[in-house]
Amino acid sequence: MQKYNPVTPEILAELKSIVGDKFAFADPEKSEAYSRDETPDTKYSHLPEAVVLPKTTEEVARIVKLANRERISVIPRGAGTGLACGAVPVTGGIVLSLERFDRIIDVNTDAMYMVVQAGVRTEEVQKAAKAAGLFYAGDPCSGDSCFIGGNLATNAGGNRAVKYGTTRHQVYDFEMVTPLGDIVHLGSRLTKNTTGYCLEQLVMGSEGTLGIITQATLKLKALPQHVIDLLAVFPDVEKAIAIVGHMLRAGMSPTCVEFMDNATVQSVERFLHEGLPQSDVGNYIIIQMEADSEEDLENKTVALDELCTENGALSVLVADSQKIWKARKAFTEATRVESAVQSFEDVVVPVDRIPEAAEASNRIAAKCGLALRMVSHAGDGNIHLTLFRSDLSEAEWDSRLGAFENELYEVVYRMGGRLSGEHGIGYKRKDLMQRFTDPVELDMMRRIKKALDPGLILNPGKIFDVDD
Ligand SMILES: Cc1cc2nc3c(=O)[nH]c(=O)nc-3n(C[C@H](O)[C@H](O)[C@H](O)COP(=O)(O)OP(=O)(O)OC[C@H]3O[C@@H](n4cnc5c(N)ncnc54)[C@H](O)[C@@H]3O)c2cc1C
Repeated sequence: MQKYNPVTPEILAELKSIVGDKFAFADPEKSEAYSRDETPDTKYSHLPEAVVLPKTTEEVARIVKLANRERISVIPRGAGTGLACGAVPVTGGIVLSLERFDRIIDVNTDAMYMVVQAGVRTEEVQKAAKAAGLFYAGDPCSGDSCFIGGNLATNAGGNRAVKYGTTRHQVYDFEMVTPLGDIVHLGSRLTKNTTGYCLEQLVMGSEGTLGIITQATLKLKALPQHVIDLLAVFPDVEKAIAIVGHMLRAGMSPTCVEFMDNATVQSVERFLHEGLPQSDVGNYIIIQMEADSEEDLENKTVALDELCTENGALSVLVADSQKIWKARKAFTEATRVESAVQSFEDVVVPVDRIPEAAEASNRIAAKCGLALRMVSHAGDGNIHLTLFRSDLSEAEWDSRLGAFENELYEVVYRMGGRLSGEHGIGYKRKDLMQRFTDPVELDMMRRIKKALDPGLILNPGKIFDVDD
């Protein structure tokens, strides 16, 4: 890793002069909250040397210019809900938090777009769209806490990606500060555009390594009028997950297809103290459908009921929407009670290979002696695996987890899959990224990083290593 210069008292004073006394600090007690994200393993935490909370894009640009001049690393941070240590300051340096970029600037109902600052919570975006009679389709499970800027930076997925795509499909354009400290608008409010390189799509998903996003124009859609959530309960994992292929081949276009394995269902039930249907044996598939009319919704529900029953469902129920989504979204907290130290894997495979990937995950975890909980954005081939350290020693945990990851990702890459469907690579998956990525592809990524950030000051040590 590169050597960076320390944040001296003089530099801290200069940061304070940019953002105001209150909004730049270095004391460890206040900085501690910026030393980690939601990765459930404290070994990844790292204290920043300073934290800055700018309010304007111009302030962000001045901080980045200062960092280039002094060769100090800058780590952009949203709400810190990431699961890959992308916002963890592994080089020390300056954590630049977007939390004061918290304004919804414009909701345009005629042209159906919304302009928001990067630090607005995703749930606030959804609510503002709904209040205007419209719909924002992005829906990560962390929506009540993550920021929209973090969603762009990680290309967050979520529950409705099956129908509406990931965050990159919800964005017209955004404003950002480049790694050199220039302010630029990327993208445009156009339906089509072949005017040079598509830089906005390159930056989205680059996890804060190619720019600091300060504001975005989001696409809004008509609010779906008729929506239903169904719960199909299956006796085994593979049959449950295989329903995705059956639905797609039958021409159904669900909004969400989410999976929870039985151990996770039971874990959530204990955590919420709420009974869940057939939790003694059931693996859950939650399907959300939208329709143009009550009649259309009824027809779709009947067809789906028949399809699930023909393909092995024990029962198909009209779900209590609030209750079932609360259960689905509680899995992280619920499983954390079972083991404080965990590893999250965010496997993604082609949708038709998802039953095989689920089978391989369970088989390899059992072989490595690791307890596993599985949930999945099954409709888009994305499986979340939570592996428990439980009472294993650190050495034993590292060894078993390493063996599990090696074997699993060999299988996943042979299927045409990748390391991460939505959480990103960050710091946590960097070694695996360097091992499993085509060297030519990796070299292209490194060249892009070096071309845009020659001083390597923006979020270094993330996604891959780069030589000076
Ligand atoms: C309970 C739970 C459920 C989750 N569910 C989902 C889910 O369904 N789908 C999903 O995709 N993810 C999910 N996540 C992961 C996480 O919430 C997302 O990755 C989210 O997009 C991160 O947003 P954030 O604001 O918290 O970003 P942070 O965690 O603060 O940062 C994430 C990365 O983005 C960079 N970054 C943040 N803001 C900016 C910015 N303005 N400009 C440039 N770079 C920036 C950081 O440097 C870092 O690399 C979940 C996490 C939890 C804890």
